[in-house]
Amino acid sequence: MRKFKKITTVLLIATFVFLLGCNSTKTILKTNINFSNNTVVAHRGAWRKLNLPQNSIASLKQAIKLNCTGSEFDVRMTADGILIINHDPHYNNLEIEKTNYSKLAAFKLSNGEKLPTLKEYLLAGIENNATTRLVCEIKPSKISKERGQLIAMKIVQLVEKLKAKDLVVYISFDYDILKKIRELVPTASTQYLENNKSPIQLKEDGISGLDYHYTAYQNHVEWIESAKKNGITLNAWTINNVADMDWLLANNFDFITTDEPELLLETEVKRATTYNDYNLVWSDEFEYSGLPDSTKWNYDIGGHGWGNNEKQFYLKNSLENSYVKDGKLHITALKKDYEDLHYTSTRLTTYERFLTQYGKIEVMAKLPEGKGTWPAIWMLPETLRTKEEEWPLSGEIDIMEHVGKDPNVVHTSLHTELYNFWKKNQYTHFETLPDVFSGFHLYGIEWSSESIKFYIDNNLFYEATKGENGKDTTNEGWPFEKPYYLILNLAIGGNWGGDIDDTIFPSEMLIDYVRIYHQTTFNN
Ligand code: MG
Repeated sequence: MRKFKKITTVLLIATFVFLLGCNSTKTILKTNINFSNNTVVAHRGAWRKLNLPQNSIASLKQAIKLNCTGSEFDVRMTADGILIINHDPHYNNLEIEKTNYSKLAAFKLSNGEKLPTLKEYLLAGIENNATTRLVCEIKPSKISKERGQLIAMKIVQLVEKLKAKDLVVYISFDYDILKKIRELVPTASTQYLENNKSPIQLKEDGISGLDYHYTAYQNHVEWIESAKKNGITLNAWTINNVADMDWLLANNFDFITTDEPELLLETEVKRATTYNDYNLVWSDEFEYSGLPDSTKWNYDIGGHGWGNNEKQFYLKNSLENSYVKDGKLHITALKKDYEDLHYTSTRLTTYERFLTQYGKIEVMAKLPEGKGTWPAIWMLPETLRTKEEEWPLSGEIDIMEHVGKDPNVVHTSLHTELYNFWKKNQYTHFETLPDVFSGFHLYGIEWSSESIKFYIDNNLFYEATKGENGKDTTNEGWPFEKPYYLILNLAIGGNWGGDIDDTIFPSEMLIDYVRIYHQTTFNN
């Protein structure tokens, strides 16, 4: 009987505490959190398009409305210990850490909104929101390291009190602040901002993510792979143009922090349809300087005309003929005597480095102008290099060829034993583009066991299908079911290149990046 009474009392107290807990949060709190399935973290909220103040509640609400997976904001503490949302250490020329909140709050934000406290901001952020992370940047204190730790502690207490815990991600440039957070809430999501620690170091210290300036990843490409391997989340800031967004999306970043959330959402949707289940397996973004990366590229060397009576001599490790600078690979042809030829150039290949059978292969390139130039982006099979097969039985995939005597006409072809240019019956197509010399275009193929689709800027313009129009489906008609390597070169003259205008040199093809993807559903 006494035991029963004791249980009843415990139950009553438990119920009371439970009800108290429910009443203490008036805000409509969603418990079934299901974060938006995109990478978009709105930097200081979604403010730019609607001309809202950064770090305002209005910009936070807009980020939630857009379904961003996160909305970032900056937290500082006033002289009288109030946590407020503001990026700069000053607000209306008043130093936040040395000014009381009431004095600061006398100044409204540009949209008439009151300078938000963290409490107001979090309450707005948890209301009807189960999709957008609240990405809380804790600004270190200029007064002392200890004050920074105190700020971190107060933020954690408030987040716990408001039951916002599951929505909040903590980020900071101050590593000790993140370590403090981790000590207080071992399960908290934390991301470090300062670019100076490897994923392994973060893992050892229990920090769950990287959130570095995007150039840090270009300088340490290996961190991307290492983070994925070690379960460290990847975020980058602050990405406001499509090219950089594309690069991070191609590398499957978990988060991308941007001032342009609408643009990133749109870019992501477009990409999802084009790259649906493709995974990046090999790439060179050319974010270094000097010779092409020798772990990725090999050279074809020589001046024997390459079967086409070409006039250039291809050199190896020649900095004036192939070099990476300002994010681009330069393949440069020069009017320069070498042995008995009068032009030098480069033919880079991935053999002995990377072979692929099937996949999506894409090269962002700008072509050289002038008579005699013959740039090409193409593929040959390993069986040809090892001399198991001869050309054209081996096969050849020409993703892009252009000859200067026929400006703006981009050719694409497949050569096989039965269908090739000697017989004038190869699979082939050409497309006229207005600005191949002034602008970069994405030349690419999607290669499967059944077909090869040719794209320019992700627009399909030609498809060759195995067995189309009664064509032979054996190796003699369709030799595209074996590993190939990629070739990038700039030939001069020759049977197709034709007469050479000697005033055009140096002449160069620029490559912004090369990316090779495999289909996740196809085991290649
Ligand atoms: Mg920030």
